[in-house]
Amino acid sequence: MTTRVAFRTCPLCEATCGLRLEVVDGRVTRIQGDEDDPFSRGFICPKGSTLGALHDDPDRLRAPLVRRGGTHVEVSWEEAFAEVERRLTAVVAAHGPDAVAVYVGNPNAHNFASTLAIRPLVKALRTRNVYSASTVDQMPKHVACGLVFGHPLAIPVPDVDRTDYLLLLGANPLESNGSLATAPDWPGRLEAIRRRGGRIVVVDPRRTRTAERADLHVPIRPGTDAALLAGIARALFDEGLVRPGRLTDLTTGIEQVEQAVSGFTRDRVAAFTGVPGATVLSLARDLAAAPTAAVYGRIGTHTTANGTLAAWLVDVLNVLTGNLDRPGGAMFPHAAHERPRRDRRGFRTGRWHSRVRGLPESMGELPIATLADEIETPGQGQVRALLTIAGNPALTTPDAGRLARALAGLELIVCVDPYLNATARHADVILPPPSSLQRSHYDLAFTALSVRNVADFSPAVLEREAGSPSEFEILVRLTAIAAGLGAGADPLALAEETLAGRVAAAVGDPSSPVHGRDADEIFAALGDREVEERLLDFILRTGHRGDAFGAHPDGISLTMLEQHPHGLDLGPLQPRLPDALATESGKVELAAAPLVAELERLGRALDVTAHSDMVLIGRRQLRTANSWTHNVAVLVRGKDACTAQVHPDDAARLGLANGVSARVSSAVGSVELPLEVTDTVMPGVVSIPYGWGHGLPGTRQAVAAAHAGVNVNTLTDAFPLDPLSGNAVLNGIPVTITAA
Ligand code: SF4
Repeated sequence: MTTRVAFRTCPLCEATCGLRLEVVDGRVTRIQGDEDDPFSRGFICPKGSTLGALHDDPDRLRAPLVRRGGTHVEVSWEEAFAEVERRLTAVVAAHGPDAVAVYVGNPNAHNFASTLAIRPLVKALRTRNVYSASTVDQMPKHVACGLVFGHPLAIPVPDVDRTDYLLLLGANPLESNGSLATAPDWPGRLEAIRRRGGRIVVVDPRRTRTAERADLHVPIRPGTDAALLAGIARALFDEGLVRPGRLTDLTTGIEQVEQAVSGFTRDRVAAFTGVPGATVLSLARDLAAAPTAAVYGRIGTHTTANGTLAAWLVDVLNVLTGNLDRPGGAMFPHAAHERPRRDRRGFRTGRWHSRVRGLPESMGELPIATLADEIETPGQGQVRALLTIAGNPALTTPDAGRLARALAGLELIVCVDPYLNATARHADVILPPPSSLQRSHYDLAFTALSVRNVADFSPAVLEREAGSPSEFEILVRLTAIAAGLGAGADPLALAEETLAGRVAAAVGDPSSPVHGRDADEIFAALGDREVEERLLDFILRTGHRGDAFGAHPDGISLTMLEQHPHGLDLGPLQPRLPDALATESGKVELAAAPLVAELERLGRALDVTAHSDMVLIGRRQLRTANSWTHNVAVLVRGKDACTAQVHPDDAARLGLANGVSARVSSAVGSVELPLEVTDTVMPGVVSIPYGWGHGLPGTRQAVAAAHAGVNVNTLTDAFPLDPLSGNAVLNGIPVTITAA
């Protein structure tokens, strides 16, 4: 028996916890939090300890599947890629490149290799029908930050370790473990704020676990956060509490913001949001009085018809109170692999529009809510084929019932996915990647959102099965097919070429730290690792903390990170303005025209918007990672987690008792599920968790099927969208509720 210990960063959510794994005879037998990880300090949540179970899951696909005569059968990798080539080429030849749509799921953000491979794949496909999970829940933050800071990835995060006052809206990090703000151990970090005398306020229609631990919970009518934030801003102006400090010289547009929020009087805001005017005023005063403060909004504020406005106004408050870019406020992380921002072109959306509904692109993507339109509507550019990469849009995107019906009519669906799930059951070809334990790991995405600067690299823990390609290799082979090089092209040779091209471009780029150096020497210095690791090493070594291939001997390289298996602590966040900006003016452009215009529209609607009797909101659950961790027994055991929560007053009014089967209906669909009567939701609200709805015909996830639940996206509507970002509206959906 051989026993060893491995350390790696958990890839399941944004918290990036360090894990300690015990491996016996090639099998993971125990997973604990890594006490020596300087960032997570031993913290682990129930999901983190299931990486071994996910790897061992008998339903995880180990070989490609191709649909033959209505059923999925195992084939060789060569056969699978040949099938993709034959059918994809035919679709493009007959209908053009836009006939192929791509959907990129959330797990790609946790996989540096697929992050590196997807962009060339999308480029090779030459399609404008690119969709991702970003327009389900986070595009508003990208668009708001793009417009104000010039770059959609310049996202300030709350400096939770130093703040004196944390105002959270629509965020429940005790269940989500944080999002767009990477911090392991939110429970411990929030507790530390209170221990050092700070305060935490949670604004949410539910008294969430996070709200339970806060100093104050402020219930709010779903979907109205932008108006509350504008009301707080107006109160700051009214009370003479606007004190941007050093931001005054770094910011334009504060006067226009004052004008834009002038209509958000406390009375109007109170009537619209349900938050008393006195609370609006006290939130403004407390925010201004705190020695340091950070405002942070997440999914509940983004998945609304005013998501981008809310995302923007969060940072408006951070600027007005002088808390942007200072310790204890909202700060810009600086990931080790990032290069200095020299581009001052600013950011815009709408460089092209969707064919059917004319919706603008954001960050090169169209809103996922319109994919069904693009599939179902005949005409030039109609989507005929779909490639999904680690995504399950048939379960996780709005009006899922319609999308599922649309998928059934496609000529070709290819899924890169380890499960035969609600989307893959429609697929013609399924290409399963290895498990996360069989690949190395570095957080390209989340170190750029981290509340402390860290860098971690984890080698693969387990070997891949003989003959199984890495996910990187799968994606490069698809790229070769899309580029017309054929399924037989050598993927590794193509990736080597890409790497050589990057090195050559860098030595010719005056802004690169390796400008003027010998490209062959640099290429050779990357060694003989797998090519995706060499690409990562190159990015790290030319990043702002990199060793620049010997020019900065103390700088970071992959080899150096390997010598720090518990991770490298690079210290607390530092002020980064104006360098973090990419606006044309070189300043924070606080009153970007599209945002001000949209706020004025909301201001006009405040008094005339009718509020529904009952509205739907989502619910985050600690043991759920989107839709794909429900096939692990330990994560679904216990009492039914997929319930409709309603307030006791509503239950009494509607004549519904706790535990009965309830029918919840919206304009687009209907579900039946157990009712849970609880005063943790405010009156007028129904809360249903997302990620459920398993057990569909043709799926192969036995544990999930036995705990199926219902799909809340049967109720969400694909038509109302956040107009500035195209993000789905998942909160505040009008519904009715009756006994089933
Ligand atoms: S909080 Fe997230 S990163 Fe940490 S162990 Fe849980 S799933 Fe993994």
